[in-house]
Amino acid sequence: MKILVINCGSSSLKYQLMDMENEEVIAKGLAERIGIDGSVLKHQPKGFDKVTVEKPMPTHREALQTVVDALRDKNYGVIKDMGEISAVGHRVVHAGEKFAYSVVLNEDVMNALKECIDIAPLHNPPNIMGIEACKQIMPDVPMVGVFDTAFHQTMPKESYIYAIPYEYYEKYKIRRYGFHGTSHKYVAERAAAMLGKPIENLKIITCHLGNGASITAVKDGKSVDTSMGFTPLEGLAMGTRSGNIDPAIIKYIAEKENISVNKVDEILNKKSGVLGVSGVSNDFRDIEEAADNGNERAKLALDVYVHYVKKYIGAYAAVMNGVDVIVFTAGLGENSANMRSRICKDISFLGVELDEAKNNIRGKEADVSKDGSKVRILLIPTNEELMIARDTAKLVGNSRN
Ligand code: AMP
Repeated sequence: MKILVINCGSSSLKYQLMDMENEEVIAKGLAERIGIDGSVLKHQPKGFDKVTVEKPMPTHREALQTVVDALRDKNYGVIKDMGEISAVGHRVVHAGEKFAYSVVLNEDVMNALKECIDIAPLHNPPNIMGIEACKQIMPDVPMVGVFDTAFHQTMPKESYIYAIPYEYYEKYKIRRYGFHGTSHKYVAERAAAMLGKPIENLKIITCHLGNGASITAVKDGKSVDTSMGFTPLEGLAMGTRSGNIDPAIIKYIAEKENISVNKVDEILNKKSGVLGVSGVSNDFRDIEEAADNGNERAKLALDVYVHYVKKYIGAYAAVMNGVDVIVFTAGLGENSANMRSRICKDISFLGVELDEAKNNIRGKEADVSKDGSKVRILLIPTNEELMIARDTAKLVGNSRN
């Protein structure tokens, strides 16, 4: 069975074609600058050189058509015709409170996703455009939606209700939803498998530290709390996002700078985080280099970042009454031995002891804790695409039985 996994942003379309017999990626790529001058597809078919296709892609429909053409190209194609694709799995950011699991995308589901546009105005419209483009180009292929919010639907009410008038939850569904759920679920399951223990017996803190970053408390295999909230702005300091701040700061900046609340919101999303503090970059590689060269604000940005992550680890150990495993994943979590080491430093009271020699590794599954460490510290590269493909194969397989 071959599954196409699609992840649409506002001007991009990322994809992987997977053969589920052996879970191998047989082609992957990225269409960029959709709807802008200079649209381009970078396509990597297995067994061939990378291909670049430059042609106008005014909408996601043309982008997807370009992908489909590349997949069955006569020189470097990996399939002969579209009939070989059994199903498409779509990454969808926000499914509100409606879906705790992945589902086959029928009209009712599409309507539910459209209802979520109000609370996910940046993310859901491109996801929906991608689904609609697929429906036009592959009308007979079943589609599945895999939601970033789904894994967190198991949170208890005390974790997801904000301490604001309850009517805002009832009227506007303002609550914590949490994001990166597919990644947190994947690494939590891998952690249990690596340790050879049932996930139902583990208290796991999963740290997804990329450009966007979130931490989740996973108890008995279920998300019980997570750092992102109503939107992906809450929680940790991130590449460009502020994470937690005193909400009163918003009004204060708006008044002092004579700018709108919308503008402040944009600053908190795009100009804050480690970029805002360091003034150097949102990329930790640049900031670590600047810090090494003596840039004081770059050093401060890293200190602030480490402090946020540590606080959440402590908080989630308290939420779960203990912790057995801490997992690091995503760009920074998988690649920066230095930041993993700094985050795990001086929390030995929790039983967390990192082995510096084992930690000197990147991008590979590894246990990087000291032999005697009560808490296992694991490095696990995330694989959201594989999770989406597995869910899709499972659902489509079931609906055909
Ligand atoms: P992601 O959003 O998971 O793709 O993560 C991207 C971010 O990971 C980049 O912006 C960097 O800040 C960070 N990153 C990637 N590689 C490294 C590395 N070798 N060292 C430090 N940070 C890294």
